Amino acid sequence: MIKVGLVGYGTIGKRVADAVTLQKDMKLIGITGHSYDYKIEVAKMKGFKIFTTGDPEEFTKNGIKPEGSVEDLIDEVDVIVDATPKKIGRENKEKYYMPKKVKAIFEGGEKHETVDASFVAQCNYDESLNKNYVRVVSCNTTGLCRTLNAVNESFGIESVHATMVRRAADPWDIRHGPINSIVPVLELPSHHGPDVQTVLHDVNIFTTAMSVPTTLMHMHSLIVDLKKETTAEEVLDLFKKTTRVRVVRNAEMVRSTAEIMELAKDMGRLRGDMPEICVWEEGIGVKNKKLFYLQAIHQESDVVLENIDAIRAITGFKDGQKSIEMTNKSMGINGF
Ligand code: NAD
Repeated sequence: MIKVGLVGYGTIGKRVADAVTLQKDMKLIGITGHSYDYKIEVAKMKGFKIFTTGDPEEFTKNGIKPEGSVEDLIDEVDVIVDATPKKIGRENKEKYYMPKKVKAIFEGGEKHETVDASFVAQCNYDESLNKNYVRVVSCNTTGLCRTLNAVNESFGIESVHATMVRRAADPWDIRHGPINSIVPVLELPSHHGPDVQTVLHDVNIFTTAMSVPTTLMHMHSLIVDLKKETTAEEVLDLFKKTTRVRVVRNAEMVRSTAEIMELAKDMGRLRGDMPEICVWEEGIGVKNKKLFYLQAIHQESDVVLENIDAIRAITGFKDGQKSIEMTNKSMGINGF
């Protein structure tokens, strides 16, 4: 059993904690609360051991007695998943994980330079084998890597231009926006292109991005110059066979991110999550050697699968394909 500790019990952390409990080869030792809120009450309801990175007094006065500090949690585990807000992971690495010599997985808000390898399971699992510090790349980068890796392996990529239409905030978030504007990212390329190259090292990619007033999902529009001739039918076939990618169809009235989220709920997915990258069948086009496609990314859940595989890779489980199968099966991915 791989003993896992979860630091940062927010949007990503609470999902990874639940996913860990579904794995036959893992045990969730505990989670950390930073401040008291409803998420901590739910963790208690689920019977998770609660440690704290904040003021223990704040928890005890609300009827929760923490088991100890983050350092106490570290003493009990083989690996920490750090899903704290960006830049805090790096601070935690220096303050706790390095001195205590514990392996740690970080999220996409941390920089590639903080870790030994950046990770997307179906692209570069082996690069993270037995490493000490691994970063699961961001939701957008994960989405780009999953489909581009498949395209690259089948047809070869000369170059990619991708535009990210990003959700403004997560659905629970009452602070961030925009709520009535489209905000371009005035940085070229946007950080996503270089981030893809931390996983798909040889893919020539240029990205642009903007934020829009929605909370449900991101959307990507991709134009890929291919090395080999192909057809839209062949690309569709490829995406249907690619793990953690789901082909959705206008013909089934899945015409929007709203309908994808409804589909996930109807499928009975936990929290209504859709961890697969959704590519529209009717949005795939090929002209000469140029491929066009549109994909939607559920930012709250796609990286959860990668966190589970990264736990196996960092602790020395050699078979990446097998890990992907185990994770998929436990979470009802690619078939339900
Ligand atoms: P979040 O704000 O939802 O959750 C972060 C949690 O960490 C909160 O529960 C907070 O209380 C806790 N926390 C804050 N400061 C802390 C500290 N000093 N020590 C320990 N815990 C602390 O954040 P999130 O959206 O889950 O993001 C976490 C990471 O995942 C970031 O790197 C982010 O870039 C990445 N990520 C987020 C999304 C997304 O769409 N939300 C998608 C992919 C990756």
